[in-house]
Amino acid sequence: MDIVCTPDELQLFTTIGRVAAELQLQCYLIGGFVRDKLLGRPTKDVDIVCTGDGISLAHAVAATFHHKPQVSFFKTFGTAQFCLHGLDVEFVGARKESYSADSRKPEVEPGTIQDDQLRRDFTINALAISLNPNDFGSLIDPFGGIDDLQSQIIRTPLGPDITFSDDPLRMMRAIRFATQLGFAIVPDVFEAISRNKHRLKIVSQERITDELNKIMAAPKPSIGLHLLFISGLLQEFFPQMVDLSGVEIVEGKGHKDNFYHTLQVIDNTAAKSDNLWLRWAALLHDIGKPATKKFEEDHGWTFHGHEVVGERMTPRIFKQLKLPQNEKMKYVAKLVALHLRPISLTKEDITDSAMRRLLFDAGEDLEDLMILCESDITSKNKMKVKRYLENFELVKERLKEVEESDRIRNWQPPISGEDIMRIFGLAPSRNVGVLKTAIREAILDGHIPNNYAAAYEYLLQKAAEFQLMPVSD
Ligand code: ATP
Ligand code: MG
Repeated sequence: MDIVCTPDELQLFTTIGRVAAELQLQCYLIGGFVRDKLLGRPTKDVDIVCTGDGISLAHAVAATFHHKPQVSFFKTFGTAQFCLHGLDVEFVGARKESYSADSRKPEVEPGTIQDDQLRRDFTINALAISLNPNDFGSLIDPFGGIDDLQSQIIRTPLGPDITFSDDPLRMMRAIRFATQLGFAIVPDVFEAISRNKHRLKIVSQERITDELNKIMAAPKPSIGLHLLFISGLLQEFFPQMVDLSGVEIVEGKGHKDNFYHTLQVIDNTAAKSDNLWLRWAALLHDIGKPATKKFEEDHGWTFHGHEVVGERMTPRIFKQLKLPQNEKMKYVAKLVALHLRPISLTKEDITDSAMRRLLFDAGEDLEDLMILCESDITSKNKMKVKRYLENFELVKERLKEVEESDRIRNWQPPISGEDIMRIFGLAPSRNVGVLKTAIREAILDGHIPNNYAAAYEYLLQKAAEFQLMPVSD
């Protein structure tokens, strides 16, 4: 395995080695950068570890460059960082860590490069390359990290129970690397994750969710989600997703396992889009199913209204997982709410007004909704999938035609909520919403033309039903 560096990187590394030697320090490239370079993965995060003070080294290195990069540093952690040639370069002094059972905060003291490698999470993350002039470029691999890179396995440098008990987030990291790299977690490490799963409770939700999002952003998120499930970690922070799993059988009839169906939908979505939030919509699209599940004599298993329940669960789940409470969350909730709509249009005799209503409701998110909906077509029966996908193409065609003629996606009805309040002298209230929706529906259904005069006349009729009269101004 070879490392290929750019000329900029090589110049930076020789400079760091030379400056460190002048300061009588030893320094090494370490961690993710070494791992990713050996794997030929693109990487911009350079981690440097040195014996002694990393902050002084960072300042001394930065000072040698013509355009002196700005050094930011954290005295308490002994870390310093600057950006150069598009690289994010971080310096830290080599550390020795010891944890005691009753405290999560490690005792940290200066250490050797070996001490520092020993406190790393996995053998593939503990590889170091010397930047010292006397042995520049030589690899320091005390735990067989290179072999593990070649065998594509994830292993801890210490006994896994020690590694995971010191920092339980490493259990999430193991599964995240397995997902990103397509590596296998060795059995005794995986067993240790199952054994130590409850320890995840002491880790902050932000750190857990960071790892979860890295799993979701990987090419095949199902790898990690499945490992989280079977190790028991998922239950620790996301029990609603675990509730999707399992098959119940009544009168010989079972339903599909919604957990594994959801994983398939996420992978299908991931194959078509890098949008993390669209992948979250895939994760949550059926989250309302357990709460709405019923066995009905005439229909078998039903999940009526699961899309509405799922839409309502979305903000709560985002809050619980410390995901953003902003337009991203609203986008996910909207897609969950609408996820059945495009497929319902594959039936025969669908009117243009049904098409118009979907164009209006989905608006700018229509393409994403179509990706989600197409990804949701999963079945073991290949013929069935093929037939559905063909019908789905027809719906796409018709949506395109209706949009081209009616321009619904960015359309606003000719009378707004504010107009209604002004016309009837109303404060914001339920009636305003009801009247506004009535006008919109009448136009989308083609009952009245899309103009102000027709909408106004219709509004007066509807308002009369509520004994509302226009106020003169
Ligand atoms: P990525 O940058 O893709 O997230 P990475 O391996 O570089 O992956 P970082 O979080 O950037 O991960 O950490 C850099 C290095 O620091 C890791 O390679 C590892 O050696 C070490 N490290 C990070 N987090 C931990 C941890 N929780 N426990 C032990 N070592 C860690
Ligand atoms: Mg990194």
